[in-house]
Amino acid sequence: MESEAIPTKTLNQTPNRTSAKMPKQRQPSATQLAGTTLGELKRAIDGADEGSMDLEKVARGVSLILEGLGENLNREGLLETPARVARMYGELLYGLNEDPADEISCTFTEGEEELVLVKDISFASICEHHMVPFMGVAHIGYIPAQGKITGLSKLARVVELVSRRLQVQERMTAQIADAIETKLNPRGVIVVLEAEHLCMSIRGIRKPGSKTITTSARGILHSDQFRRQEALTLLQNRYV
Ligand SMILES: [Zn+2]
Repeated sequence: MESEAIPTKTLNQTPNRTSAKMPKQRQPSATQLAGTTLGELKRAIDGADEGSMDLEKVARGVSLILEGLGENLNREGLLETPARVARMYGELLYGLNEDPADEISCTFTEGEEELVLVKDISFASICEHHMVPFMGVAHIGYIPAQGKITGLSKLARVVELVSRRLQVQERMTAQIADAIETKLNPRGVIVVLEAEHLCMSIRGIRKPGSKTITTSARGILHSDQFRRQEALTLLQNRYV
């Protein structure tokens, strides 16, 4: 069967982007967005970026998958699925070309140079090997240099942004550490991610509940055994 064209009506709907952050400097106004096709919408967001997201192409790909699976694309429940899935990917993966270090937009100077630890920052990302989610929490610790700190919510924003692209957990962990190192140049940084991967829970080896833990440490939180242990102990809820 030939691939069905994506219904124009569906593509003309303005996607709900309330939960998808758009780059501040390129964010189009609501009037600019009204009545655009998905492709125009994305181009409006991404400007002239090379390799920007083409949601119309994604929707065509979803149609092809459904067709390959032997589905009837004209079935009522599937009529808008390709466009809906394309919009979902637009929301889930908007962070591909964004720099997570930009999320640490403001810094402050305080006298303290002791460990700052933020625990249990929840995230959901998409495994690049299977394109199914992995979900869990991130813990971030850093020791400021020259008292240079950032707002705690900025650390959560970094986690959010790096989760919004196709990922492997190991690289995601390192990208969080890199962003903090780049912007704060701290004496040390440590990032721990704990996540459950649906590609292990619902397919393949099928072990629901198993957790993958990854770490990335820089500076004295990498090289100084006492400092590293202090951070890891606090992560495990034991206070030294
Ligand atoms: Zn996977």
